[in-house]
Order: sequence, then structure tokens, then C-alpha cells
Amino acid sequence: MKKTLLLSVALCLTMAGIAQKTLPYKYEDITSPKFAEAVKQSGGICVIPLGIMEKHGPHLPLGTDMYESRQIAFRAAEKEYAVVFPPYYAGQIYEARHQPGTIAYSNDLVWRLLEETCNELSRNGLKKIILLNGHGGNTSFLQYFCQSQLASRKDYIVVLFREGNDPVNGKEIASLKKAKLDGHAGEEETSMMYSINPSFVDMEALRNESGLDQDRLAGLPFAYAGIWWYAKYPNHFASDINTPDKRLGELLIESSAGQLAQLVKYLKTDNTIQQLQEEFQRRADNPIGK
Ligand SMILES: [Zn+2]
Repeated sequence: MKKTLLLSVALCLTMAGIAQKTLPYKYEDITSPKFAEAVKQSGGICVIPLGIMEKHGPHLPLGTDMYESRQIAFRAAEKEYAVVFPPYYAGQIYEARHQPGTIAYSNDLVWRLLEETCNELSRNGLKKIILLNGHGGNTSFLQYFCQSQLASRKDYIVVLFREGNDPVNGKEIASLKKAKLDGHAGEEETSMMYSINPSFVDMEALRNESGLDQDRLAGLPFAYAGIWWYAKYPNHFASDINTPDKRLGELLIESSAGQLAQLVKYLKTDNTIQQLQEEFQRRADNPIGK
């Protein structure tokens, strides 16, 4: 027993020694005394990868979006140092309330949690916040959240990462894709999860249910209804082929991570958003200029 204890103490000391050499990018792994160094090295940039707890077809874990967005953030932070916020899974997900395992917090809580998280990051010196969305149902919420940054003066900025064309990996990604319908829990997500960890994909459950579009609101002219997604994909699964392709998964993660790293690098030295926000608020305080 004593020998084991000594061994574990020695192991802990060695691991601490290793950890001290490189500054961790995961928020939860940084020690309090090293936090100021992390703020400095990151240029005050914190990435919040946003996931959700929801069904991902019959074959992927509830936390799929959280795993994917965090993996992209980790890979980006390895390329260009930034602090990566701990697991985050509060978001808009009412459309999956009928499926087991969904955690659908109220609008108030989802909004306030993100707002207070940003406030707390800023108080700790992380004044450039990048939202990295891993969940389709969050798209409108996060854009509205960004628009609402202009409602009052802030001593920090919030930007939403948006992927673009990838001239390096784009062609190979397109050549590997077989699915005609590839949405929620489809070929891309299945491949990404497989490349993160093959045990995340329940291969036996792969073809247990249909992910095809049921189009039950096809007759509704010129309108949007909150039930649109359920009308199309009541199994909370949108895909015709979802066989995992490890290379495709790796390329998708690499592609997003490369673009995110570019954004981190840009924001580290560029302060245009802060300057424009300050100019805007000065004018908004007195729009008629007298
Ligand atoms: Zn997903």
C-alpha cells in the first residue's frame, strides 16, 4: 500500500511538472496562479464551444454537439493559443423535448447563463469571446445574442464563429461524401464522432430508424412555424446515409479548426470591433449630437 502511495505521489509530481511546462488551453485545467498568464498568452480570447443534450439519431450520444465543438476548439487552440471554456450545454432545444434525454432549459435561463458567463469571463480579463456553435437549434439564438451586445455599453466583445469555404480540404471533403441528405446526426456528424472516438458510434443502431424527410407541412404556403422541424424529422434525425468515414470526420474537424485558429489570430491583434462598439455607444448616447 505504502509503495503504491509513494508511486502515485511521484506520478502526480511528474505530471504536475509536465503540466507546468505548457500552459493548458482548457479553462478547467489552468491553475489560478497561472490564469493571468493564460489571459496574456491568449490575447484575452476565450472560445466557448456550445453543445446541447439532445438525441442524435439512434446511434450517436446525447452530447454529440458538445464533443464535436470542443474537439474543434481544442484543435484550434493547439494551432493558435486561446482559452477554451469548460463543457457548456445550455441552449435552444425545445424541438427535441419529445425525445428521451433532452435537457431543454427555459429561454430566460439560457440567455442569462450565456450573458453572465460572458460577464464573468470579462471580469477575469478574457474580453474577446468567440462563440463556437455546435448545435443547429442555437443558430437564431446566438445571432440574436450577438445583436443584443449593442443594447448597452460592454467592456468586451462577443463574436460568433462562422465557417467558410475551405480551399485546402474542401475538395477532398466533397469527394468523400456519399449522402444526398446529410443533416442532424447524418454522415458528417457520424464521421466526426467516429474520428473523435469510434466507441461513440453505436454501429448496431445505425439503421434502426429513418432519417428521411417526412415533409408533413409541405402544404403550408409562405410561413414559418416552430413545429417545422418535427413536421419533417420526428425521429430527430435527418440523413439518408450515416455510415462513418474516419477520414471525412478528421477533415471536417481540421477544416473548422483551421478557420477558427485564423479568427483567433486575427482577434489577438485587431481591436476594430471594440473601437467601433465604443464609437457606436458614444453616438447612441446622444444621437442628435447636441
Ligand atoms: Zn448535432
